[in-house]
Amino acid sequence: MKLYNTLTRQKEEFVPLDPNQVTMYVCGPTVYNYAHIGNARPVVVFDLLFRLLRRRFPSVIYARNITDVDDKIIEASQQSGEPIDTITERYIQAYDEDTEALGALPPDLKPRATDHMQAMIEMIQVLIDKGNAYEADGHVLFDVTAHPDYGQLSRRTLKEMLAGARIDVAPYKRNAGDFVLWKPSDENQPGWDSPWGVGRPGWHIECSAMAAAHLGKTIDIHGGGIDLVFPHHENEMAQSQCAHGQPFVRYWMHNGFLTMDKDKMSKSLGNTLTIHELRESIPGELLRLVLMSAHYRQPLDWSDHTVAQQKERLDRMYRSLRDLEDVEAMADSEPAPELMAALEDDLNTPQALSVLASLINQANAASDDAERARLKGTILASAEMLGLLQADPEQWLQGGAPELDTDEIDQLIEQRNQARKDRDFATADRIRDQLAAMGVIIEDGAGGTRWRFDR
Ligand code: AMP
Ligand code: ZN
Repeated sequence: MKLYNTLTRQKEEFVPLDPNQVTMYVCGPTVYNYAHIGNARPVVVFDLLFRLLRRRFPSVIYARNITDVDDKIIEASQQSGEPIDTITERYIQAYDEDTEALGALPPDLKPRATDHMQAMIEMIQVLIDKGNAYEADGHVLFDVTAHPDYGQLSRRTLKEMLAGARIDVAPYKRNAGDFVLWKPSDENQPGWDSPWGVGRPGWHIECSAMAAAHLGKTIDIHGGGIDLVFPHHENEMAQSQCAHGQPFVRYWMHNGFLTMDKDKMSKSLGNTLTIHELRESIPGELLRLVLMSAHYRQPLDWSDHTVAQQKERLDRMYRSLRDLEDVEAMADSEPAPELMAALEDDLNTPQALSVLASLINQANAASDDAERARLKGTILASAEMLGLLQADPEQWLQGGAPELDTDEIDQLIEQRNQARKDRDFATADRIRDQLAAMGVIIEDGAGGTRWRFDR
């Protein structure tokens, strides 16, 4: 299997440190509001990788953390007057519901920062003892000049980084680029006892400590969106390597941005669509397909047009599966080798989806039932690999229409069929138009007339 490694800027053969157990850590949400559809991209990308690794290796441990200590959470609590726990619990639950709707398998571990204070404090102490960090004014800072490899992941020189960080530098920092490992908390902020007083950790040390606590000092894969390369992952790497004296991550993987009108979707730009609100009108499976429609390292522009295009594609696949209803899928089928090859080439989902489409075309063109059963088995196994097409075709095609009275639809279809038998085509057409106005599309086939909902 080949994966693109951000550290080396090339596709590499994936070889885990321990062939019996792959470890993967993905930076999860900061839980102070609903996740947006841009945040859903790493969820789907790394879920797909998780599925793929589970097929190839005897065991995979996938950890996706929850950042439940952060200044944005404190701010949200101060603004709304709600206790921090109430806020974090609400959005952790919403995130679980959203990711489940996206068809993402639950990670093996969902470590929370608040449960790992001791591990963070110990790691910070090691960094101080080794001369990589210093205490100043109630803070502990990482000294970027004491680590010669700093900048290796993002390929920035220390000079560039220091120049970029020169505005509003806190007076207690030795170098403009030094970042916070620990900071003091006042009585209105959550705080934990530490050798440096009551305080809380910086964001980067949270991930370094949780990754080491659950997956070990060197992990195979570490993922997130491309915006995390600098500073978050650069800083995680510096802390972990300095504290442990060994490589932190073997393969760094980053997804490209989800954009809207070419701008990155982000809370700070205010152009976000939450998964929570999108789910009211778009099924999770369709959201998943849209997110897989572009290669994960490419930008993906979100628009009504893209969603409509992918809906048409998903409906087409379900229609074809419905046409295969009369044959039983061959038991113990495996995903198509071409599909596996596409996915194992750095998660090439556009290619994998086109393999799936071509299998579906072959199945629809086949007339031999044994061949149709074989292809149906391959299609379902391939689709399962992608986390798609697991719904009942009839239900999918008639879904999204809860307000429709299915008895009424069946009656109208019967009246139309009678009109056609009576060669009263004007009435038949009128009924078809009446159904279309309700969002019901009818299709006449060998097995009779069927309908699907299409708004
Ligand atoms: P955040 O809550 O901002 O830390 O983001 C959670 C995850 O979503 C991180 O892996 C981010 O890199 C990723 N992410 C945030 N915005 C986008 C976006 N517009 N497109 C793709 N990934 C994103
Ligand atoms: Zn992280």
